[in-house]
Amino acid sequence: MNIYDEVKGAVTIGISGHIRPDGDCIGAAVGLYLYLKKACPSADVQVMLEKPADVFSCIKGISEIHTDFKTAVECFDVFIAVDTSKERMGEAEKYFDGAKKTINIDHHVSNSGCGDVNYIVPEASSTSELIYQVMEDKSFVDVEIAKAIYVGIIHDTGVFQYSNTSPSTFKAAAELIAYGFDFSKIIDETFYEKTYVQNQILGRALLESILFMDGKCVVSMVDKKTMGFYQAGPHDLEGIVNHLRNIKGVECAIFMYQTDTLEYKVSLRSNGLVDVSKIAVFFGGGGHVRAAGATMQGTFHDITNNLSARIDAQLKEIERTKV
Ligand code: AMP
Ligand code: MN
Ligand code: MN
Repeated sequence: MNIYDEVKGAVTIGISGHIRPDGDCIGAAVGLYLYLKKACPSADVQVMLEKPADVFSCIKGISEIHTDFKTAVECFDVFIAVDTSKERMGEAEKYFDGAKKTINIDHHVSNSGCGDVNYIVPEASSTSELIYQVMEDKSFVDVEIAKAIYVGIIHDTGVFQYSNTSPSTFKAAAELIAYGFDFSKIIDETFYEKTYVQNQILGRALLESILFMDGKCVVSMVDKKTMGFYQAGPHDLEGIVNHLRNIKGVECAIFMYQTDTLEYKVSLRSNGLVDVSKIAVFFGGGGHVRAAGATMQGTFHDITNNLSARIDAQLKEIERTKV
């Protein structure tokens, strides 16, 4: 895909991603926004996302995001959904539905494409890497665009650690750092650095985690009361599930935080054996083989039971087909 050809002639262009945007979603949406503003100077380009975490303020254009989802545009000529399918767009979904032309760029294996034009590559490290690919005319790419895309790539690859990292990811990253920004500082400030409170919650979640299924599974949870005590939001819980996944012997890690009475946002991580995307899709969510999520109803114990039944079934099936 050459994104310029797809939006050529459009007077109004909207961009959005998924609810509770992560680094990839923010990097992809804002990187694309900065690029299209340069490539299509006469177009009105707008990006709509829920308010990004403060750590992303190093990305240029972050303050120009319509975090209230308000716009004077009634019907966008083109609306682009990045890092998501339309069901997970939250308030932006209505603009997507009302647009004259829709484009979907994503890397979730659970997304079959919801746009008039789709560029879905499940093997890609991140949507940000795909966004860099569709910027065919690289003459518009500048240091700020490079920075946004780079942030997206490092977040979805765990700083080039996860198995979704490929030679093309490194090639893109090599080109991006050549624009000259302090990548080391960006990695520290947006990915590794945690506030004192974030570390306290992480500590608590690890301390209260429960190992089960002969050590193949681990689960932990943070309830509303605890989040209130620490004055913590969803941003403060990012990364906890990865620590759980790192426990030796664990095939599948579950982390959930309470979003409402009998409602939890669940994150699933696998070390490759279990396909957690399939499990998340079964419960109305989605994601990738090794990282997926869903919002689930019930008590912590009900949800854990329901998930472990699916994990157990997959592990048994793997065992059965091995012999
Ligand atoms: P999380 O555990 O929320 O960090 O998400 C892990 C991966 O699954 C990310 O790539 C998310 O974009 C994806 N994901 C999480 N929740 C959902 C959902 N409800 N629908 C589709 N994909 C999801
Ligand atoms: Mn994402
Ligand atoms: Mn992503």
